[in-house]
Amino acid sequence: MSTRESTVTSSLQRAPSRLDYEMVVGLEVHVQLLTRTKAFCRCSTEFGAPPNVQVCPVCLGLPGALPVLNEHVVDLAIRAALALDCRVHLVSVFARKNYFYPDLPKGYQISQYDRPLATAGRLTIEGDRGDAPASVGITRLHIEEDAGKSVHDRFPTLTAIDLNRAGVPLIEIVSEPDIRSSRAAGAYLRSLKQLLEFLEVSDVSMEEGSLRVDANISARRVGASQLGTKTEVKNLNSFSAVERALDAEFARQCGILDAGQRVIQQTMLWDAVTASVRPARTKEESHDYRYFPEPDLPPLVLELDRVETIRRELPELPAKRRARYRETLGLSPYDADVLTATKALGDYFEEVVRHHRDAKAAANWVMGEVRAALNASKIDIAHFPVRAADLGELLDLVRDDVLSGTAAKRVFAVMAQTGERASQIAQREALVQVRDDSALRGWIDEVVAEHPKEIARYAGGEQKLLGVLVGFVMKKSSGRADPKRVNQLLVERLGA
Ligand SMILES: [Zn+2]
Repeated sequence: MSTRESTVTSSLQRAPSRLDYEMVVGLEVHVQLLTRTKAFCRCSTEFGAPPNVQVCPVCLGLPGALPVLNEHVVDLAIRAALALDCRVHLVSVFARKNYFYPDLPKGYQISQYDRPLATAGRLTIEGDRGDAPASVGITRLHIEEDAGKSVHDRFPTLTAIDLNRAGVPLIEIVSEPDIRSSRAAGAYLRSLKQLLEFLEVSDVSMEEGSLRVDANISARRVGASQLGTKTEVKNLNSFSAVERALDAEFARQCGILDAGQRVIQQTMLWDAVTASVRPARTKEESHDYRYFPEPDLPPLVLELDRVETIRRELPELPAKRRARYRETLGLSPYDADVLTATKALGDYFEEVVRHHRDAKAAANWVMGEVRAALNASKIDIAHFPVRAADLGELLDLVRDDVLSGTAAKRVFAVMAQTGERASQIAQREALVQVRDDSALRGWIDEVVAEHPKEIARYAGGEQKLLGVLVGFVMKKSSGRADPKRVNQLLVERLGA
């Protein structure tokens, strides 16, 4: 019985609902590699330059210009492939993907087609909110070059073309259709982004277009083994857009199947304003790209040594670092997750621990004060004025009771503004804790003289007034008195 027949039969029995269908998703992610120059010429890849200044005869596709492969592109692509557990092929082939588009000056993109760099990998996604870890298969990873950019908002009635991006190196990472919900798609993308950031193969900035996602989605009856007809959803400019677009497209497909009709294979565009999907004007599936091997480039042949060297030099990846934070540093799973959100944040935290030793205290400060300061000033940890070693010194001062918790926060606020060292600020602002008994007794004498009523009530048995009296002493000392010692001295004095 075909899928269609079974749909029709059961829809006669009862109205199916979305619960009768399963979402099947595969994702294609384009990632811009972190190279200084383009894939096949020496033009700069820097973001934000004026239009059409980072171009040359090669990336403009002028007659007679020949591409030369940037070897750094290959190294970064291999690094990503190995981290995704892919098999890296020692021979892969560049191919021309032919199509006409205004921002594609050559009339083709150099890509890889039937012999990609790497195949058969997987990405493990650690379960959040108590889910078990899941694994998503990686079908392939290949190298290609980017196209230029059409600019629609610069001139009222014209489309402008910026070719700075033409020829910038990308890898395309294609997943198996192993993803079963929009939430799982979001988790896959966040894990992939984090992995690529740890690998330092891309700046993974969605705002600057370094990471772009297309989603293939189909719906099938729960329990069916055959895949339904898929559509491709494009124009997804954030992970939350991916999740919302998948839910919208799934609902649309379920509605079609419920009505006994067939889903048409086509490209859908996500419209964030109306939170809906609509068919793209052109049927991109009907394109015949007429792939053929790129005649201007030889096959990409790798030495096994090169691949194995890159494998050996892979950095510590997120899952391993999280485990180390839990097992070696004794952090909670939550703390380990937060501190490995980016490699840079984790590196900073570890540098603080190297200086201060107490991992739990370092974790609390980095997760609390440091992240709050970064959010407030909207700067990156790499440009944070407080060096990790200086935060370590501040934590030492707290541990040694030189600074109270409150004073430490005031010192930190100044450090975050000026980048000065904790001890300098503490001395200048007279924030160092006073633990000298004679000074403390002087303040206590004054408080006792000024508050006879409170003293009498305390003597009459109102124990809770002790806290109030400590507060008066603290105020007199401008917050510098050591509250623990004040407490002891007050009890001694009033008990006598
Ligand atoms: Zn160029």
